[in-house]
Amino acid sequence: MGNPTSLYLQAASISLPVGSLVWVEDPDIAWIDGEILEVNGSDIKVLCNSGKTVVVKSSNVYAKDAEAPPSGVDDMTKLAYLHEPGVLHNLKARYDINEIYTYTGNILIAVNPFRRLPHLYDTHMMAQYKGAAFGELSPHPYAVADAAYRLMINDGVSQSILVSGESGAGKTESTKQLMRYLAYMGGRAAAEGSRSVEQQVLESNPVLEAFGNAKTVRNNNSSRFGKFVEIQFDQKGRISGAAVRTYLLERSRVCQLSDPERNYHCFYMLCAAPPEDIQRFKLDNPRTFHYLNQTNCYELNGVDDGKEYLATRKAMDVVGINSEEQDAIFQVVAAILHLGNIEFAKGKEIDSSVPKNEKSWFHLKTAAELFMCDVKALEDSLCKRVIVTRDETITKWLDPEAAVTSRDALAKIVYSRLFDCFEQFCINLTNEKLQQHFNQHVFKMEQEEYTKEEINWSYIEFIDNQDILDLVEKKPGGIIALLDEACMFPRSTHETFAQKLYQTFKNHKRFCKPKLARSDFTICHYAGDVTYQTELFLEKNKDYVIAEHQALLNASKCSFVSGLFPTSNEESSKQSKFSSIGSRFKAQPHYIRCVKPNNLLKPAIFENNNVLQQLRCGGVMEAIRISMAGYPTRKPFYEFLDRFGILSPEVLDGSTDEVAACKRLLEKVGLQGYQIGKTKVFLRAGQMAELDARRTEG
Ligand code: ATP
Ligand code: MG
Repeated sequence: MGNPTSLYLQAASISLPVGSLVWVEDPDIAWIDGEILEVNGSDIKVLCNSGKTVVVKSSNVYAKDAEAPPSGVDDMTKLAYLHEPGVLHNLKARYDINEIYTYTGNILIAVNPFRRLPHLYDTHMMAQYKGAAFGELSPHPYAVADAAYRLMINDGVSQSILVSGESGAGKTESTKQLMRYLAYMGGRAAAEGSRSVEQQVLESNPVLEAFGNAKTVRNNNSSRFGKFVEIQFDQKGRISGAAVRTYLLERSRVCQLSDPERNYHCFYMLCAAPPEDIQRFKLDNPRTFHYLNQTNCYELNGVDDGKEYLATRKAMDVVGINSEEQDAIFQVVAAILHLGNIEFAKGKEIDSSVPKNEKSWFHLKTAAELFMCDVKALEDSLCKRVIVTRDETITKWLDPEAAVTSRDALAKIVYSRLFDCFEQFCINLTNEKLQQHFNQHVFKMEQEEYTKEEINWSYIEFIDNQDILDLVEKKPGGIIALLDEACMFPRSTHETFAQKLYQTFKNHKRFCKPKLARSDFTICHYAGDVTYQTELFLEKNKDYVIAEHQALLNASKCSFVSGLFPTSNEESSKQSKFSSIGSRFKAQPHYIRCVKPNNLLKPAIFENNNVLQQLRCGGVMEAIRISMAGYPTRKPFYEFLDRFGILSPEVLDGSTDEVAACKRLLEKVGLQGYQIGKTKVFLRAGQMAELDARRTEG
């Protein structure tokens, strides 16, 4: 029976004769194909396709499948030779002919085309996937959505689809296609009212993108928040409700930008609004606003911000935000821009501050008008702090620098209240959580099933980042717990916090102190190392609502604004939100892994090394290995007999012993390498197809 892992190991160690087609490593394109010219012991001379000749060790030479179809195979598990170059080449061959989707068993790999491919997503396509067996048609997010939909209907169990990948890989676009398909499946044929639930679900995308997406170096439309979309269906499979939860908005972007990135789209849209709105909100060119002019990037290629403004308002209509609420929302967005333009100079008192000049007074007044709060109260909340001790109340002035910090804190809290909260560190953390989930389900469950069925299996090591989650989240003792502790001590500084971290985690293999650093620390995330500055950290965590700001906006005459700052402290949901993401997935999720083929964000460029890196980090290589090296197809005995009994009907004669019948059947058809578990037959990759083919022949 042998060790199942030998299947992929053998590819490298097999002895290949002169003339064989092979893959060898290449520094520029990762793997290059060529032909063996000479074999001298373990040294192999290869003539590469590029024309150059190299001598490599036989252990680094991989056989190339001469009969592989030039346009690739739609499922990696159909590859004759399984190894990294084969997988990479397959993805590339497909990408070259705009086949951007490929299966790896039941995981869908999506390579970003960076060009519109409308024929892939029209209603005709959706109609085709409706009810088609998984794997029957070309790989597609619709097939994944359809499989999930049908499992939900048939088994009555909630389903989830996990979409992952690095920034710019196509998560948001793939998710939109999934949502479109589910809306199509669960929609009510005729329009009952003007706003159906499915329309609302779909239109939540442009609204969220206006307020939560921004241009970054890695993606012109980068989501700076995490998203959890829940769509509820009734007994008949029709959409009955939906909820879109967002979490962890990157709030520092509101007041801090670096070239060539942009702030959130909504700021630019508003500056390009129709004249009446421009007048009403006293707006101007984006270049005149401090929160926007810290970079030289104002426009986006192919995007008309003025049109986007109107489109966003339309989408808000559909989602059910009425025009008064919309006005209030944009009024707050405008107020934030004016707030950012208030500069401070030294005041009369020692270490005090006042608005710097006429211009600053104008923006202060305008911000107050738009927030519908008292000007003096706004000024005070920026320039003063009230300290209440046991015996007295002291008013303390803030110097100009502290006033700026106070101003930015107000802008951030207002914007994040407008959207929702949290931070870049946590975005990474979320990815970590999702990655762990991916590992857990694809690998752990797979291996658990083998163990349960008591079949031979040698365990494969895989990236498991429970250790990172522990490092960050564990209570007590994790980084966040230590941070919370540090914030409670008024005397703690980022340096004392860093020292505490260095001490606590000096032997943790995911944590390290960068050389020469005095207060930074590095976490080895699955996607690479990320260095965090404790300085910003402590600051950000302390970014609670300042009492003066709370009081100021709670007193706003605009009910929308005061509603953003309710007095009663009902913020206990904050913590639970954090851990709710992982625990929501109960059934095994369906997976879509998005891959970004180049960092130029351009079509038709497939950078081998870049893609490989993502496949390795994302656990795709492991998933492929495990499904190929193992037994990707498994059927309960009765189902197996049902399907293949026809190949040798005599095995069923007079027997009620399903196991014995299965064994006899498999012997008769001469299959090799399969395994018999306690309740199921386990087949090698491709064996099912082989049996099916015989069934049709017979
Ligand atoms: P982030 O993590 O930064 O939010 P993301 O994974 O959500 O990134 P997307 O915004 O979905 O990335 O994709 C980036 C860009 O790539 C899109 O704006 C679009 O131009 C292009 N793109 C992605 N997927 C597709 C697709 N299937 N068809 C056409 N273009 C696509
Ligand atoms: Mg996105």
